[in-house]
Amino acid sequence: MPIQIRKADQLKPQPDQSKLGFGTIFTDYMFNMDYNPDKGWHHPRIEPFAPISMDPSTMVLHYGQSVFEGLKAYRTGSGAVQLFRPRDNFKRMNRSCRMLCIPEIDEAAVLDALKQLVSLENKWVPSAEETSLYIRPTIIAMDPYLGVRASFTYRFFIILSPVGAYYPEGFDPVKIWVSDDHVRAVRGGMGEAKTAGNYAASLLAGDKAHQEGYTQVLWLDGITRKNIEEVGSMNIFFVIDDELITPALNGSILPGITRDSVLALARSWDMKVTEGQISIDEIISAHASGRLQEIFGSGTAAVISPVGELKYGDQIISVTDGKVGPVAQKLYQTITDIQYGRCEDPMGWVEPVS
Ligand SMILES: *Cc1c(COP(=O)(O)O)cnc(C)c1O
Repeated sequence: MPIQIRKADQLKPQPDQSKLGFGTIFTDYMFNMDYNPDKGWHHPRIEPFAPISMDPSTMVLHYGQSVFEGLKAYRTGSGAVQLFRPRDNFKRMNRSCRMLCIPEIDEAAVLDALKQLVSLENKWVPSAEETSLYIRPTIIAMDPYLGVRASFTYRFFIILSPVGAYYPEGFDPVKIWVSDDHVRAVRGGMGEAKTAGNYAASLLAGDKAHQEGYTQVLWLDGITRKNIEEVGSMNIFFVIDDELITPALNGSILPGITRDSVLALARSWDMKVTEGQISIDEIISAHASGRLQEIFGSGTAAVISPVGELKYGDQIISVTDGKVGPVAQKLYQTITDIQYGRCEDPMGWVEPVS
């Protein structure tokens, strides 16, 4: 399907690359496409970035039927622009769609649209160290209707936001609060989907964690409140006795693409890797016996986020003396080297845009 392009009358000034932050600046253009039961997904178009006008009864505003993705475009040393595993994002978006009764997208067509949008916006892909262009594909339910059912009409859009280095002050470990009175998702629910409601459900516990001086929440499972699940927007890893351990994808955990990259790299380095059930009690006892070596999170925004401290009830579990552990360091270096084209891409993860 050919994509129509409507040019902007005026372009925005380029931001200062040393002050980008996250998610506040948007580029000149966005991609839009609509769905109705007659035409399916139709009218793909690139047009000036603009507010979406909608009826106050629009279903997404009331019942949260929406899914989104997050990925990045990177500027390499030679000036080229490349994406990291974008096909996996659109595949995951379709899994989220199935869970929320949203009609699936054509993954190849949408990837092609994304590449056209990013090429048109080439100058918005920043070049300063560790900066990137964050990409947010989203689908929202558009019927103006207050009854509870799946919407008949939808909007798919992609917006782009240049973002700064995640660690402007260096790669420092964070402190994480383990929640046992709030849960994020339960098996049979929507934990596996990247959908708005999961983030609304995480806010109250996040506030409590911030009040206690912790940056994020580590969620336990909703049934036993013992087994480790994941962090707010990151999957979680532990290194115990030189073995890399992460919770298995059990239905309530978001299947992170960075998580999958970490597992693939660690296996390629012949590390012992386990995806399985792991409880907070096992972490406490590994820590008590001196076998817990590292804790870190994985996600598109931070890539790898070393964790220096977990707080669970009255217990404080601290690792690596507030420093970054060697496994977290090597993974961060390798993944970012691949993303920015500073090394070979043995896994075929990188996709050129231009
Ligand atoms: C997006 C997300 C992740 C990380 O996924 P990546 O594909 O690695 O960015 C982990 N957990 C949650 C809840 C998320 O929303």
